[in-house]
Amino acid sequence: MVDRWRVLAALLATRWRRFGSREALQRYQERRLRTILTRARRTFPAYAQVQGTALTDFPILDKEGWLSRFDGLNDRGLSLEQCLAAAGAAEASGRFDATLAGVSVGLSSGTSGRRGVFLTSPQEQARWAGAMLAKTLPSLREPVRVALVLRSGGPLYEAVGGGRITFTHIDLALPAETINERLLAFAPTVLAAPPQVLDDLARHPIRPGPTVIYSVADVLDDDVAARIERGFGLTVGQVYQATEGFLGITCAHGTLHLNEDLVHVERELIDAGTGRFVPVITDLYRSTQAIIRYRLGDVLVPGPDECPCGSVFATIARIEGRAEDVPHFTSRSGGDRPLFTDVIRAALLAAPGVQDFRLVQRGDGSLRLAVRPPQAQASAHLALHRLLESRALVVPEIGGMPWPVEAATDKRRRVRRVV
Ligand SMILES: [Zn+2]
Repeated sequence: MVDRWRVLAALLATRWRRFGSREALQRYQERRLRTILTRARRTFPAYAQVQGTALTDFPILDKEGWLSRFDGLNDRGLSLEQCLAAAGAAEASGRFDATLAGVSVGLSSGTSGRRGVFLTSPQEQARWAGAMLAKTLPSLREPVRVALVLRSGGPLYEAVGGGRITFTHIDLALPAETINERLLAFAPTVLAAPPQVLDDLARHPIRPGPTVIYSVADVLDDDVAARIERGFGLTVGQVYQATEGFLGITCAHGTLHLNEDLVHVERELIDAGTGRFVPVITDLYRSTQAIIRYRLGDVLVPGPDECPCGSVFATIARIEGRAEDVPHFTSRSGGDRPLFTDVIRAALLAAPGVQDFRLVQRGDGSLRLAVRPPQAQASAHLALHRLLESRALVVPEIGGMPWPVEAATDKRRRVRRVV
């Protein structure tokens, strides 16, 4: 059971921590990094050979590399096999997480590859819950009713139920009507759910509706956000949360900011023109498991340098999904070129009659396209063809495909690569 006082302490610390300038933030991050990295060399066997305490002395790890060194990257001496077995057994019995050596063992949902295994101590859970509440709740004076529609429960609602804050967790795997009924009965003031759930709810919004809505766990495309906002009559915020950490949240001005008080973010540039990057994160507080120079698979588009809210945290214009899902084409002048998801989405949704689509690039470079409604298939094909030509890319074979089967708990990916 998570300690409520620890949650409250983290909540207040997060609310009160203010940075007057980017430099002040950097000084704070440097202090935290020194503490984290010094301990890492002593504590985690995988870092015993690291020569210095500068961040760049540590290797960058993607999920695969990180999992392959799992045993040396936690301070409990737990092995990956042990943790997978415990988490698997817990899942099979309908529980959300297992406990080993005093820490919770959670699995990431994972859209591809192996599932990540994440260990958190009760203190880390309390800190996470406090930071999450501090950043999501509109006011600490009013009573709030928070409904979370998610794949799995977290420590959050268990930690802080009762008092002025009431939580309900609704399992995303339930039928849409059941989710609706539960929300109606609970009457949340704050609603957090994946975009496709909000999109469904926006068609028959609950009344009285929530005053704050957050899209979580999936990419929020502009067209979906617009529908949600029309339905609810509210702007929709985003919580950028992964099993790896609480990475960002929308401010009152609708700008997504990285949580640079919790994580240090390095940018691995993948497109110089737009500044698109893949974040390499270092958690400034986690101690059970090392999240040091961990490469997330997401593509982020940087936002404006400044935000009217006054926060010095970096802004993000868009989260574009997984880097591994970005289709690549051959340029007519030779060479391999990426074509980013938002460009494809804009072109296809602008094609006459197209309401939604799924695009898959296969290992041989060919494309498969599914379109709703199906009558708009030809129009979508033409738009895609024209887009590739206008970008001076060699047009590969484009074929149709049936609309993919998507479970309620699957992440929605409009554009995907399969290899
Ligand atoms: Zn802002």
